[in-house]
Amino acid sequence: MTAPFALCVFCGSSNRGDPDHLDLAETLGRHAARRNVAIVFGGGRVGLMGAVADGALAHDGHVVGIIPQHLEDLEVGHRDTSEYHVVDSMHSRKRMMFDRSDAFCILPGGLGTLDETFEMVTWKQLRLHDKPIILLNHNAFWQPLLTLLQHQIDAGYLRGPMDRLITVADSCEEVFDLLNK
Ligand code: AMP
Repeated sequence: MTAPFALCVFCGSSNRGDPDHLDLAETLGRHAARRNVAIVFGGGRVGLMGAVADGALAHDGHVVGIIPQHLEDLEVGHRDTSEYHVVDSMHSRKRMMFDRSDAFCILPGGLGTLDETFEMVTWKQLRLHDKPIILLNHNAFWQPLLTLLQHQIDAGYLRGPMDRLITVADSCEEVFDLLNK
């Protein structure tokens, strides 16, 4: 039996964001479960992280949570996931999230989301992998980041075009359409 396609989701741990973003995360989890796509995520119950996991679990999806021990309390470890891995450091978490995933999707988030995203993008730039990285630009949340990246391309510090590294989607449906291609 082959393992299901696994989509790693990087997203905010804050509960103070737009409630619409929680719906978006829940919807992404639901779509993944319905398509038999496993979710790999940071293993917490907080913010969008918890919502994406709960969205998938509510529809019998396979959810892989990976959390460093020192964040288990802070991010409220989601022990009801299909797989719950406690690792020894942030680096181990990021490495395991990378190893367990076939593609990445970025939802609204903060610095941790950016940190995780840029690690995957820079590894891709260095040709350490060629996994799809999809930025879900819901309601243009990530437009400032896209503007910055285009500025870096125009200034000659980043080799374009942008979609060499990152693909932009506007909806959950589009994320899965892109993955199907
Ligand atoms: P945030 O977008 O700041 O809410 O963080 C989202 C997730 O990224 C959380 O699970 C953080 O633990 C994780 N994260 C990964 N790397 C970092 C980092 N260098 N700094 C802060 N959070 C990080």
